[in-house]
Amino acid sequence: MPLYDEETLEKFRLSGKILRETREEMRSYVRENMPVIQVCEKAEALIREKGGKPAFPCNVSINEAAAHYTSPPNDTKRIPEKAVVKVDIGVHVDGYVTDTAFTACFNPEHASMTAAAEHALKTAIDNIRPEITTSKIGSAIETDIKNRGFKPISNLTGHSVGRYLIHAGTSIPNVAQFSLTKIKTGDVYAIEPFVTLPDAVGRVEDSNEVTIFRLVKAKSTKNPYAKQLLKYIEKTFRTLPFTERWLEGIVPQQQHDTAFKELLSSKSIMGYPVFIEVSRKTVTQAEHTVLITDDGCEILT
Ligand code: MN
Ligand code: MN
Repeated sequence: MPLYDEETLEKFRLSGKILRETREEMRSYVRENMPVIQVCEKAEALIREKGGKPAFPCNVSINEAAAHYTSPPNDTKRIPEKAVVKVDIGVHVDGYVTDTAFTACFNPEHASMTAAAEHALKTAIDNIRPEITTSKIGSAIETDIKNRGFKPISNLTGHSVGRYLIHAGTSIPNVAQFSLTKIKTGDVYAIEPFVTLPDAVGRVEDSNEVTIFRLVKAKSTKNPYAKQLLKYIEKTFRTLPFTERWLEGIVPQQQHDTAFKELLSSKSIMGYPVFIEVSRKTVTQAEHTVLITDDGCEILT
C-alpha cells in the first residue's frame, strides 16, 4: 500500500472538505416526496461548484435498498413518505477519493436505528489506529450495534480508497470476521456501518435493478457509437463508477441505447446492481473517510 506525500494528502483533505460541506448541505435539502433525481443532481452540482468532481454518482437508497441506487435519466421515482434514505456521496480531487454517507430518516420508528449507525461509526473511528486488525474494528462495530438492539449487515464493508479507486484492496468488515490484515499508518479508509432490525437476515443481495456502471476493459467494437461512448467513459471516468445520466448528449440519442447495451454485452463495462436486504427490512448507514495517523486517525470528511 502506498504512503502518500504531503502534496497528495492535501488533495485528500480538499476532497474531504468539499464532501463534508456537500453532505451537510444535503442533510437539510432532502425531503419526503422530493424526486430522487433532484437529490442526485443537487449533490453532484454542489460537489462541482465547490471545485471537486463526483467520485461516483450520488447514491439515494431507500428503506430496504442498502446501496447503489442512483437515478437513471428521466427518473420519476420520488422519496416516499416515512422513508429511510441513505445518501452516499464521493468526491475526487485529481483522482484522490473520499467517500461519506448519512441516513435521512423520515420515520420516527427508525430514528434509533439511524443513530445506531452513527454511533457504530464513531466507535470504529475511536478504535482505529495503526497495527489494529480489520477484524477487531469489525468486532467493535458489531458489538456496538448489537448493544443498541440492532443487527449489522454482514456482507457490506468499509474499504481502503486510492487514486481513481473506490475500493483499493483492504476491506473493513462490520462484523467480527477472521482476518490478520492490519491497518497501516498513512493509508486512507472509508468506514461504513450498515444497520438493520434484529429480526432481519442481516445480509444484502443483488436486485434486478442496475443504475451504476464502471469501465472494466475496453474491448474492440464495430459499432462506431459504442466506440465513441467508450472513449468518453475511459477519458472522463477512468476506473470510477458512472451513471447514464452523465452520458447524455455524447452520441445521438437514438443511437445511445444500442451502443450502451453493446458495451455491457461485450463486457467493456459492468453494472453494480442495487443491494437490497435479503428479508426486505429497512437499513441505515453512516460513513466517513479517515487518514490513519500515528496515534489514531484524522477524519477527512
Ligand atoms: Mn459511500
Ligand atoms: Mn464506501
